[in-house]
Amino acid sequence: MKNFNVDVNGYYGDFGGAYIPEILYKNVEELKNKYQKIIDDPSFQKEYNDLLRDYVGRPSPLYLANRLSEKYSCKIYLKREDLNHTGAHKINNSIGQVLLARRMNKTRIIAETGAGQHGVATATVCALMNMECIIYMGKTDVERQKLNVQKMEMLGAKVVPVTSGNMTLKDATNEAIRDWCCNPSDTYYVIGSTVGPHPYPDMVARLQSVISKEIRQQLKEKEGREKPDYLIACVGGGSNAAGTIYHYLNDEDVKIVLAEAGGKGIDSGQSAATIQLGRLGIIHGSKTLIMQSEDGQIEEPYSISAGLDYPGIGPLHAYLASAGRSTVLAVNDDEAMRAAFELTKLEGIIPAIESAHALGALEKVKFKQDDVVVLCLSGRGDKDMETYIKYFNLINE
Ligand SMILES: *Cc1c(COP(=O)(O)O)cnc(C)c1O
Repeated sequence: MKNFNVDVNGYYGDFGGAYIPEILYKNVEELKNKYQKIIDDPSFQKEYNDLLRDYVGRPSPLYLANRLSEKYSCKIYLKREDLNHTGAHKINNSIGQVLLARRMNKTRIIAETGAGQHGVATATVCALMNMECIIYMGKTDVERQKLNVQKMEMLGAKVVPVTSGNMTLKDATNEAIRDWCCNPSDTYYVIGSTVGPHPYPDMVARLQSVISKEIRQQLKEKEGREKPDYLIACVGGGSNAAGTIYHYLNDEDVKIVLAEAGGKGIDSGQSAATIQLGRLGIIHGSKTLIMQSEDGQIEEPYSISAGLDYPGIGPLHAYLASAGRSTVLAVNDDEAMRAAFELTKLEGIIPAIESAHALGALEKVKFKQDDVVVLCLSGRGDKDMETYIKYFNLINE
């Protein structure tokens, strides 16, 4: 049987590793040597699980979506990460990493953010735990995502607009890494997805694995079996997908279908379909698939959803796709938007546009009548109302 977990050197097959500047070597080594021991410690587990229950509101419900099921002629359960405090799965990871930082005696938290969701989740946890919090965000994103910037500031975080490059996520990440290099002793860098140098991809996957742990129990209660026929999730960097599949990786009878952002179409030059279009390279300390030009320049990705337009992909997902363990579909802007309005109409749930990409995959899979499908609804649509309204007016003009 294949091993889908990370190896001792931080690799998933050919993907992963830790390609970092010399000055961070000690920090990353320290994290690598301590993270598993700290996370597995019973007192950490108690603190973490108590907060997930009482602060986040876990377990998140596993909801049988009857009308959606009827439409796709199978049995579709939605894993309701949209009901978490702050509106998405990201808080599971932020809580875990800030707890870890505290146990490593770090006093200063830094993070990067694109759309602002990871920034808000991290600023929330820093307020809760009384930690200093600095969030790096591209200037373009600061202007596009005003509400999230205001939330972070109200929560007491300092938001630093980054003016290098295209002034988006990639540039914010570079700036966060630069900060970490300057302040290696007191600072902890909270990465928001299953990306970055080892051990981050594995650490974030473990912190999100509570999603599949709950799915197993909830499905047992509802269906009398722990294993669905299909797991479906969207992938940006890959953290909600990693959490959804973590405890099923070695159950090869459970099919994994992942949706990446096709943007305006994978041949349009405007997409974020990294697994289908990317080539091997190094980004943010990890060897993985990257959207890049002929001469190796990182290309700016595009998607209608700000949470999916990352030019790389977590090394776990690059490996699962190359090993045939997952099927990766590109879901375009239009398909995701249609799926979002469909869910709203059929079930009264307005999803995040990211999650709508997972919903957009439903029409691309041939299900059997008795198939049990679990789809991760990674977040709620409040943050996307402006985009939805604009789109709705556009198509009804
Ligand atoms: C950030 C975000 C994503 C994408 O990140 P992953 O690490 O791929 O999960 C997906 N859905 C929502 C709601 C998000 O906020």
